[in-house]
Amino acid sequence: MVSLTFYGGAGEIGGNKILLEDKGARIYLDFGESFNFGEDYFYEYLSPRAVNGLEVYFEFGLLPKVPRLYGKRQLQFTGMKYAPPDIDAVFISHFHSDHLNHLPFLDEGIPVYMGHGTQRLIETYNKLYPGYYKMGEHKEIGLFKSGDKIKVKHLVVEPIHVEHSVPGAYGFIIHTSKGAVVYTGDFRLHGPRSDMSQEFVEKAADARPYAMLCEGTRMAEAGERNYTEKEVEEKADEIIKEAKGIVFADFSMANVDRFLSFYNATVKNGRKLVIDTRFAFVLDNLREKVAALPDVMEDKDILVYYRIAKSCEFEEKDYYPWERKYFPKKVTYKELSRAGKGYVMHMGFNKLMELVYIQPKDAEFVYSMSEHFLEGEENEEMRTVMENWVKHFKVGFHKAHSSGHASREDLEEVVKKVNPKVLVPMHTSKPEEFLKLHKNVVLPEKGKTIEI
Ligand SMILES: [Zn+2]
Ligand SMILES: [Zn+2]
Repeated sequence: MVSLTFYGGAGEIGGNKILLEDKGARIYLDFGESFNFGEDYFYEYLSPRAVNGLEVYFEFGLLPKVPRLYGKRQLQFTGMKYAPPDIDAVFISHFHSDHLNHLPFLDEGIPVYMGHGTQRLIETYNKLYPGYYKMGEHKEIGLFKSGDKIKVKHLVVEPIHVEHSVPGAYGFIIHTSKGAVVYTGDFRLHGPRSDMSQEFVEKAADARPYAMLCEGTRMAEAGERNYTEKEVEEKADEIIKEAKGIVFADFSMANVDRFLSFYNATVKNGRKLVIDTRFAFVLDNLREKVAALPDVMEDKDILVYYRIAKSCEFEEKDYYPWERKYFPKKVTYKELSRAGKGYVMHMGFNKLMELVYIQPKDAEFVYSMSEHFLEGEENEEMRTVMENWVKHFKVGFHKAHSSGHASREDLEEVVKKVNPKVLVPMHTSKPEEFLKLHKNVVLPEKGKTIEI
Protein backbone atom coordinates (compact mmCIF):
# COMPACT_ATOMS: atom_id res chain seq x y z
CA MET A 1 0.00 0.00 0.00
CA VAL A 2 1.37 3.38 -1.01
CA SER A 3 0.23 6.39 0.96
CA LEU A 4 0.78 10.10 0.52
CA THR A 5 0.59 12.80 3.15
CA PHE A 6 0.56 16.37 1.92
CA TYR A 7 2.09 18.71 4.50
CA GLY A 8 2.08 21.36 1.79
CA GLY A 9 1.22 21.66 -1.89
CA ALA A 10 -2.42 20.51 -1.47
CA GLY A 11 -4.88 23.09 -2.78
CA GLU A 12 -2.17 25.73 -2.94
CA ILE A 13 0.40 26.86 -5.45
CA GLY A 14 3.77 25.95 -3.96
CA GLY A 15 4.84 24.71 -0.54
CA ASN A 16 5.36 21.14 -1.72
CA LYS A 17 6.15 18.86 1.22
CA ILE A 18 4.81 15.42 0.46
CA LEU A 19 5.48 12.25 2.39
CA LEU A 20 5.37 9.02 0.38
CA GLU A 21 5.24 5.79 2.39
CA ASP A 22 5.46 2.29 1.02
CA LYS A 23 6.05 -0.84 3.09
CA GLY A 24 8.39 0.72 5.62
CA ALA A 25 10.11 3.11 3.19
CA ARG A 26 9.42 6.79 3.82
CA ILE A 27 10.57 9.60 1.59
CA TYR A 28 9.63 13.25 1.22
CA LEU A 29 9.10 14.77 -2.19
CA ASP A 30 10.35 18.34 -1.75
CA PHE A 31 10.48 20.17 1.55
CA GLY A 32 9.33 23.66 0.66
CA GLU A 33 7.70 26.66 2.20
CA SER A 34 4.26 27.94 1.22
CA PHE A 35 4.20 31.35 -0.42
CA ASN A 36 1.96 32.72 2.34
CA PHE A 37 3.96 31.05 5.12
CA GLY A 38 3.69 32.90 8.43
CA GLU A 39 2.08 35.99 6.98
CA ASP A 40 -0.75 35.93 9.53
CA TYR A 41 1.65 36.18 12.48
CA PHE A 42 4.94 37.65 11.33
CA TYR A 43 5.67 41.07 9.92
CA GLU A 44 9.07 42.54 9.14
CA TYR A 45 11.10 42.27 12.39
CA LEU A 46 8.37 40.37 14.18
CA SER A 47 9.72 36.99 13.13
CA PRO A 48 10.96 33.80 14.78
CA ARG A 49 14.55 33.62 16.00
CA ALA A 50 16.93 32.25 13.44
CA VAL A 51 18.64 29.68 15.70
CA ASN A 52 15.64 27.58 16.58
CA GLY A 53 12.19 28.84 15.80
CA LEU A 54 10.30 25.58 15.54
CA GLU A 55 8.50 26.29 18.83
CA VAL A 56 7.04 29.45 17.26
CA TYR A 57 5.93 27.61 14.13
CA PHE A 58 4.35 24.86 16.25
CA GLU A 59 2.58 27.48 18.36
CA PHE A 60 0.72 28.77 15.31
CA GLY A 61 0.39 25.41 13.59
CA LEU A 62 2.61 26.51 10.72
CA LEU A 63 4.64 23.32 10.61
CA PRO A 64 3.28 19.84 11.29
CA LYS A 65 4.07 18.29 14.68
CA VAL A 66 5.55 15.18 13.14
CA PRO A 67 7.86 13.11 15.36
CA ARG A 68 11.22 11.80 14.16
CA LEU A 69 11.58 14.40 11.42
CA TYR A 70 13.16 17.51 12.90
CA GLY A 71 16.63 18.20 14.30
CA LYS A 72 17.44 17.93 18.00
CA ARG A 73 18.21 21.63 18.41
CA GLN A 74 15.08 22.60 16.50
CA LEU A 75 12.95 20.75 19.04
CA GLN A 76 14.66 22.24 22.09
CA PHE A 77 11.79 24.50 23.20
CA THR A 78 8.89 22.69 21.62
CA GLY A 79 8.09 20.12 24.29
CA MET A 80 8.44 17.40 21.66
CA LYS A 81 10.93 14.77 22.67
CA TYR A 82 13.74 14.11 20.21
CA ALA A 83 14.00 10.66 18.64
CA PRO A 84 16.22 9.59 15.74
CA PRO A 85 14.58 10.15 12.35
CA ASP A 86 12.46 7.53 10.62
CA ILE A 87 12.62 9.20 7.19
CA ASP A 88 14.82 7.48 4.62
CA ALA A 89 15.41 10.40 2.27
CA VAL A 90 14.22 13.80 1.06
CA PHE A 91 14.22 14.50 -2.68
CA ILE A 92 14.38 18.12 -3.84
CA SER A 93 13.07 18.82 -7.35
CA HIS A 94 14.54 22.30 -7.93
CA PHE A 95 15.92 25.55 -6.53
CA HIS A 96 12.76 27.43 -5.53
CA SER A 97 11.81 28.39 -1.99
CA ASP A 98 8.44 26.65 -2.25
CA HIS A 99 10.31 23.36 -2.76
CA LEU A 100 13.31 23.52 -0.43
CA ASN A 101 13.09 26.33 2.12
CA HIS A 102 12.32 24.12 5.11
CA LEU A 103 15.42 21.96 4.73
CA PRO A 104 17.09 23.62 7.77
CA PHE A 105 14.47 22.13 10.10
CA LEU A 106 15.26 18.56 9.13
CA ASP A 107 17.20 16.18 11.32
CA GLU A 108 20.75 16.20 9.99
CA GLY A 109 20.78 12.41 9.77
CA ILE A 110 18.19 12.33 6.97
CA PRO A 111 19.88 12.01 3.54
CA VAL A 112 18.92 14.81 1.13
CA TYR A 113 19.03 14.32 -2.64
CA MET A 114 19.10 17.12 -5.19
CA GLY A 115 20.38 17.83 -8.69
CA HIS A 116 23.91 19.14 -9.30
CA GLY A 117 22.42 22.42 -10.58
CA THR A 118 20.33 22.97 -7.44
CA GLN A 119 23.35 22.51 -5.21
CA ARG A 120 25.36 24.92 -7.37
CA LEU A 121 22.59 27.53 -7.15
CA ILE A 122 22.35 27.18 -3.37
CA GLU A 123 26.12 27.66 -3.03
CA THR A 124 26.12 30.64 -5.38
CA TYR A 125 23.23 32.46 -3.71
CA ASN A 126 24.64 31.69 -0.27
CA LYS A 127 27.81 33.49 -1.20
CA LEU A 128 25.89 36.50 -2.53
CA TYR A 129 23.32 36.70 0.25
CA PRO A 130 24.97 35.08 3.30
CA GLY A 131 22.51 33.53 5.68
CA TYR A 132 19.53 34.05 3.41
CA TYR A 133 19.60 30.82 1.41
CA LYS A 134 20.01 28.44 4.32
CA MET A 135 20.08 24.77 3.68
CA GLY A 136 20.74 23.50 7.18
CA GLU A 137 23.10 20.75 8.25
CA HIS A 138 22.90 17.40 6.51
CA LYS A 139 25.32 14.55 6.99
CA GLU A 140 24.60 13.16 3.58
CA ILE A 141 23.77 15.10 0.43
CA GLY A 142 23.29 12.96 -2.65
CA LEU A 143 23.67 14.69 -5.99
CA PHE A 144 21.86 13.29 -8.99
CA LYS A 145 21.60 13.86 -12.71
CA SER A 146 18.91 12.93 -15.18
CA GLY A 147 18.50 9.17 -15.62
CA ASP A 148 20.17 8.17 -12.34
CA LYS A 149 18.46 5.49 -10.30
CA ILE A 150 18.60 6.05 -6.57
CA LYS A 151 17.76 3.14 -4.32
CA VAL A 152 16.05 3.88 -1.02
CA LYS A 153 15.21 0.58 0.69
CA HIS A 154 13.06 -1.18 -1.93
CA LEU A 155 12.10 2.09 -3.66
CA VAL A 156 13.96 3.28 -6.76
CA VAL A 157 13.76 6.99 -7.53
CA GLU A 158 14.57 8.11 -11.05
CA PRO A 159 15.07 11.85 -11.53
CA ILE A 160 14.45 13.12 -15.08
CA HIS A 161 15.24 16.68 -16.11
CA VAL A 162 12.42 19.07 -16.97
CA GLU A 163 12.32 22.64 -18.21
CA HIS A 164 11.19 25.25 -15.65
CA SER A 165 12.06 28.88 -14.86
CA VAL A 166 15.26 27.81 -13.13
CA PRO A 167 17.97 25.44 -14.42
CA GLY A 168 18.46 22.02 -12.87
CA ALA A 169 14.76 21.19 -12.38
CA TYR A 170 13.58 17.57 -12.18
CA GLY A 171 10.53 15.38 -12.13
CA PHE A 172 10.71 11.98 -10.44
CA ILE A 173 9.56 8.50 -11.33
CA ILE A 174 9.34 6.51 -8.11
CA HIS A 175 9.20 2.74 -8.47
CA THR A 176 7.16 1.45 -5.53
CA SER A 177 5.80 -1.96 -4.54
CA LYS A 178 2.54 -1.04 -6.28
CA GLY A 179 4.05 0.29 -9.48
CA ALA A 180 5.48 3.59 -10.67
CA VAL A 181 4.44 6.89 -9.10
CA VAL A 182 5.21 9.98 -11.18
CA TYR A 183 5.96 13.33 -9.52
CA THR A 184 6.15 16.21 -12.01
CA GLY A 185 7.76 18.89 -9.82
CA ASP A 186 7.30 22.25 -11.59
CA PHE A 187 7.65 22.15 -15.37
CA ARG A 188 6.76 23.74 -18.67
CA LEU A 189 6.65 22.74 -22.32
CA HIS A 190 6.96 26.05 -24.15
CA GLY A 191 10.58 27.13 -23.76
CA PRO A 192 13.88 26.48 -25.55
CA ARG A 193 14.49 23.26 -23.57
CA SER A 194 11.02 21.79 -23.74
CA ASP A 195 12.75 18.66 -25.12
CA MET A 196 13.75 17.90 -21.53
CA SER A 197 10.15 18.03 -20.31
CA GLN A 198 9.09 15.95 -23.32
CA GLU A 199 11.65 13.32 -22.37
CA PHE A 200 10.26 13.26 -18.83
CA VAL A 201 6.70 12.86 -20.11
CA GLU A 202 7.76 10.02 -22.42
CA LYS A 203 9.65 8.20 -19.69
CA ALA A 204 6.73 8.72 -17.30
CA ALA A 205 4.36 7.22 -19.88
CA ASP A 206 6.72 4.29 -20.53
CA ALA A 207 6.70 3.50 -16.81
CA ARG A 208 2.91 2.86 -17.06
CA PRO A 209 2.45 4.61 -13.76
CA TYR A 210 0.01 3.69 -11.11
CA ALA A 211 -0.28 7.28 -9.96
CA MET A 212 0.81 10.73 -11.04
CA LEU A 213 1.23 13.76 -8.79
CA CYS A 214 0.81 16.57 -11.28
CA GLU A 215 1.47 20.28 -10.76
CA GLY A 216 -1.41 22.52 -11.83
CA THR A 217 -0.24 26.09 -11.28
CA ARG A 218 -2.10 27.27 -14.39
CA MET A 219 -5.18 25.04 -14.24
CA ALA A 220 -7.39 28.07 -13.69
CA GLU A 221 -6.27 29.68 -16.94
CA ALA A 222 -8.45 27.88 -19.48
CA GLY A 223 -8.12 29.42 -22.93
CA GLU A 224 -5.59 31.99 -21.83
CA ARG A 225 -2.79 32.88 -24.21
CA ASN A 226 0.35 30.84 -23.53
CA TYR A 227 3.30 33.11 -24.24
CA THR A 228 6.38 31.14 -25.23
CA GLU A 229 9.93 32.06 -24.30
CA LYS A 230 10.56 32.77 -27.99
CA GLU A 231 7.76 35.36 -27.92
CA VAL A 232 9.40 37.06 -24.93
CA GLU A 233 12.57 37.38 -26.99
CA GLU A 234 10.62 38.77 -29.94
CA LYS A 235 8.80 41.30 -27.76
CA ALA A 236 12.08 42.36 -26.11
CA ASP A 237 13.59 42.74 -29.58
CA GLU A 238 10.72 45.01 -30.71
CA ILE A 239 10.92 47.19 -27.60
CA ILE A 240 14.71 47.54 -27.86
CA LYS A 241 14.51 48.32 -31.58
CA GLU A 242 12.00 51.14 -31.00
CA ALA A 243 13.64 52.54 -27.85
CA LYS A 244 15.33 55.92 -28.06
CA GLY A 245 17.14 55.51 -24.77
CA ILE A 246 18.32 52.82 -22.38
CA VAL A 247 16.11 49.74 -21.88
CA PHE A 248 15.80 48.26 -18.39
CA ALA A 249 14.73 44.64 -18.02
CA ASP A 250 13.52 43.08 -14.77
CA PHE A 251 13.81 39.31 -14.51
CA SER A 252 15.10 36.68 -12.10
CA MET A 253 18.86 36.05 -12.15
CA ALA A 254 18.33 32.32 -11.82
CA ASN A 255 16.14 32.19 -14.92
CA VAL A 256 18.77 31.39 -17.55
CA ASP A 257 16.23 31.07 -20.38
CA ARG A 258 15.04 34.60 -19.72
CA PHE A 259 18.61 35.86 -19.55
CA LEU A 260 19.29 34.33 -22.96
CA SER A 261 16.10 35.87 -24.41
CA PHE A 262 17.23 39.35 -23.38
CA TYR A 263 20.84 38.66 -24.30
CA ASN A 264 19.84 37.62 -27.83
CA ALA A 265 17.50 40.61 -28.29
CA THR A 266 20.23 42.98 -27.04
CA VAL A 267 22.95 41.62 -29.33
CA LYS A 268 20.58 41.60 -32.31
CA ASN A 269 20.09 45.34 -31.87
CA GLY A 270 23.78 46.10 -31.56
CA ARG A 271 23.55 47.10 -27.90
CA LYS A 272 25.49 45.93 -24.84
CA LEU A 273 23.85 43.99 -22.03
CA VAL A 274 24.67 45.45 -18.62
CA ILE A 275 24.47 43.19 -15.58
CA ASP A 276 25.66 43.87 -12.05
CA THR A 277 28.46 42.02 -10.25
CA ARG A 278 26.03 39.63 -8.55
CA PHE A 279 24.51 38.62 -11.84
CA ALA A 280 28.00 38.19 -13.34
CA PHE A 281 28.87 35.90 -10.42
CA VAL A 282 25.70 33.82 -10.94
CA LEU A 283 26.44 33.39 -14.66
CA ASP A 284 30.05 32.49 -13.91
CA ASN A 285 28.93 29.81 -11.49
CA LEU A 286 26.21 28.37 -13.71
CA ARG A 287 28.16 28.27 -16.96
CA GLU A 288 29.78 24.98 -16.09
CA LYS A 289 26.30 23.43 -15.72
CA VAL A 290 24.49 25.34 -18.48
CA ALA A 291 26.56 25.21 -21.64
CA ALA A 292 24.42 27.81 -23.48
CA LEU A 293 25.52 30.65 -21.19
CA PRO A 294 28.14 33.14 -22.41
CA ASP A 295 31.42 33.79 -20.62
CA VAL A 296 31.07 37.15 -18.87
CA MET A 297 34.80 37.94 -19.08
CA GLU A 298 35.15 37.02 -22.75
CA ASP A 299 31.84 38.13 -24.21
CA LYS A 300 32.16 41.58 -25.81
CA ASP A 301 28.40 42.17 -25.59
CA ILE A 302 28.27 41.95 -21.79
CA LEU A 303 29.37 44.72 -19.44
CA VAL A 304 29.35 44.71 -15.65
CA TYR A 305 27.77 47.58 -13.72
CA TYR A 306 29.57 48.94 -10.67
CA ARG A 307 27.47 50.94 -8.22
CA ILE A 308 28.86 53.92 -6.35
CA ALA A 309 30.68 52.65 -3.25
CA LYS A 310 32.87 53.99 -0.44
CA SER A 311 35.35 56.23 -2.30
CA CYS A 312 32.77 57.24 -4.91
CA GLU A 313 35.64 56.93 -7.39
CA PHE A 314 35.04 53.32 -8.46
CA GLU A 315 38.28 52.02 -6.98
CA GLU A 316 38.77 48.27 -6.82
CA LYS A 317 39.09 48.28 -3.04
CA ASP A 318 35.54 49.65 -2.74
CA TYR A 319 34.14 46.28 -3.70
CA TYR A 320 34.06 42.77 -2.25
CA PRO A 321 37.01 40.64 -3.39
CA TRP A 322 34.75 38.38 -5.50
CA GLU A 323 33.42 41.42 -7.39
CA ARG A 324 36.79 42.78 -8.41
CA LYS A 325 37.30 40.09 -11.00
CA TYR A 326 34.89 41.82 -13.39
CA PHE A 327 36.68 45.17 -13.29
CA PRO A 328 37.95 44.87 -16.88
CA LYS A 329 34.27 44.83 -17.92
CA LYS A 330 33.34 47.83 -15.79
CA VAL A 331 30.63 50.27 -16.73
CA THR A 332 29.14 52.92 -14.43
CA TYR A 333 26.18 55.27 -14.33
CA LYS A 334 28.25 57.82 -16.22
CA GLU A 335 28.40 55.86 -19.48
CA LEU A 336 24.80 54.76 -19.15
CA SER A 337 23.49 58.29 -18.73
CA ARG A 338 25.67 59.65 -21.56
CA ALA A 339 24.82 57.03 -24.16
CA GLY A 340 21.74 55.17 -22.93
CA LYS A 341 20.72 54.03 -26.40
CA GLY A 342 23.71 51.70 -26.53
CA TYR A 343 22.58 49.59 -23.58
CA VAL A 344 20.07 47.18 -22.14
CA MET A 345 20.43 46.95 -18.37
CA HIS A 346 19.20 44.23 -16.05
CA MET A 347 17.13 45.96 -13.38
CA GLY A 348 15.50 44.65 -10.23
CA PHE A 349 13.36 46.24 -7.55
CA ASN A 350 16.38 46.56 -5.25
CA LYS A 351 18.43 48.31 -7.92
CA LEU A 352 15.94 51.07 -8.76
CA MET A 353 18.17 53.45 -6.79
CA GLU A 354 20.59 53.47 -9.71
CA LEU A 355 18.06 55.48 -11.72
CA VAL A 356 18.86 58.49 -9.55
CA TYR A 357 22.46 58.39 -10.81
CA ILE A 358 21.76 57.28 -14.37
CA GLN A 359 19.04 59.92 -14.85
CA PRO A 360 17.67 58.04 -17.87
CA LYS A 361 16.20 59.91 -20.84
CA ASP A 362 13.58 58.28 -23.11
CA ALA A 363 14.06 55.00 -21.28
CA GLU A 364 11.88 51.90 -21.41
CA PHE A 365 11.28 49.32 -18.67
CA VAL A 366 10.41 45.70 -19.47
CA TYR A 367 8.86 43.83 -16.58
CA SER A 368 9.61 40.15 -17.03
CA MET A 369 9.32 38.56 -13.60
CA SER A 370 7.47 35.35 -12.80
CA GLU A 371 3.86 35.08 -11.80
CA HIS A 372 4.13 35.46 -8.04
CA PHE A 373 4.81 39.17 -8.20
CA LEU A 374 3.07 42.25 -9.58
CA GLU A 375 -0.20 40.36 -10.07
CA GLY A 376 -0.14 39.16 -6.46
CA GLU A 377 -1.96 41.28 -3.90
CA GLU A 378 0.66 40.63 -1.25
CA ASN A 379 3.09 42.68 -3.30
CA GLU A 380 0.75 45.60 -3.83
CA GLU A 381 3.04 47.92 -1.88
CA MET A 382 6.14 47.02 -3.88
CA ARG A 383 4.22 47.36 -7.11
CA THR A 384 3.13 50.87 -6.20
CA VAL A 385 6.69 51.86 -5.31
CA MET A 386 8.01 50.46 -8.57
CA GLU A 387 5.34 52.24 -10.57
CA ASN A 388 6.15 55.48 -8.81
CA TRP A 389 9.83 55.19 -9.76
CA VAL A 390 8.98 54.41 -13.36
CA LYS A 391 6.57 57.35 -13.55
CA HIS A 392 8.99 59.72 -11.81
CA PHE A 393 11.68 59.09 -14.42
CA LYS A 394 9.12 59.10 -17.26
CA VAL A 395 10.13 55.60 -18.25
CA GLY A 396 7.87 53.64 -20.63
CA PHE A 397 6.50 50.47 -19.01
CA HIS A 398 6.10 47.13 -20.81
CA LYS A 399 5.42 43.56 -19.79
CA ALA A 400 6.90 40.50 -21.47
CA HIS A 401 6.69 37.20 -19.68
CA SER A 402 6.47 33.51 -20.33
CA SER A 403 5.40 31.28 -17.46
CA GLY A 404 7.67 28.64 -15.94
CA HIS A 405 4.64 26.36 -15.69
CA ALA A 406 2.81 24.27 -18.26
CA SER A 407 -0.37 25.77 -19.70
CA ARG A 408 -3.68 24.08 -19.00
CA GLU A 409 -3.76 22.75 -22.57
CA ASP A 410 -0.29 21.22 -22.17
CA LEU A 411 -1.28 19.70 -18.82
CA GLU A 412 -4.28 18.07 -20.50
CA GLU A 413 -1.95 16.54 -23.08
CA VAL A 414 0.49 15.34 -20.43
CA VAL A 415 -2.25 13.65 -18.38
CA LYS A 416 -3.53 11.95 -21.53
CA LYS A 417 -0.06 10.76 -22.55
CA VAL A 418 1.12 9.55 -19.15
CA ASN A 419 -2.29 8.03 -18.50
CA PRO A 420 -1.92 7.10 -14.80
CA LYS A 421 -4.56 5.02 -13.04
CA VAL A 422 -4.82 7.67 -10.31
CA LEU A 423 -4.23 11.39 -10.73
CA VAL A 424 -3.31 13.52 -7.72
CA PRO A 425 -3.30 17.30 -8.30
CA MET A 426 -0.71 19.35 -6.45
CA HIS A 427 0.80 22.85 -6.55
CA THR A 428 -2.52 24.31 -7.70
CA SER A 429 -5.24 26.50 -6.26
CA LYS A 430 -7.77 24.74 -8.49
CA PRO A 431 -7.27 21.00 -7.88
CA GLU A 432 -10.94 20.28 -8.71
CA GLU A 433 -10.27 21.38 -12.30
CA PHE A 434 -8.33 18.13 -12.76
CA LEU A 435 -11.63 16.25 -12.34
CA LYS A 436 -12.42 17.34 -15.89
CA LEU A 437 -9.23 15.71 -17.23
CA HIS A 438 -9.28 12.29 -15.66
CA LYS A 439 -11.81 9.77 -14.34
CA ASN A 440 -9.91 8.85 -11.18
CA VAL A 441 -8.71 11.98 -9.43
CA VAL A 442 -7.83 11.97 -5.73
CA LEU A 443 -7.89 15.44 -4.18
CA PRO A 444 -5.34 15.72 -1.37
CA GLU A 445 -5.99 17.69 1.80
CA LYS A 446 -3.30 19.33 3.87
CA GLY A 447 -2.16 17.13 6.75
CA LYS A 448 -4.32 14.16 5.73
CA THR A 449 -3.01 10.83 4.49
CA ILE A 450 -4.42 9.35 1.32
CA GLU A 451 -3.92 5.82 0.15
CA ILE A 452 -3.46 5.23 -3.52
ZN1 LIG B 1 6.82 25.64 -7.17
ZN1 LIG C 1 9.42 26.32 -9.21
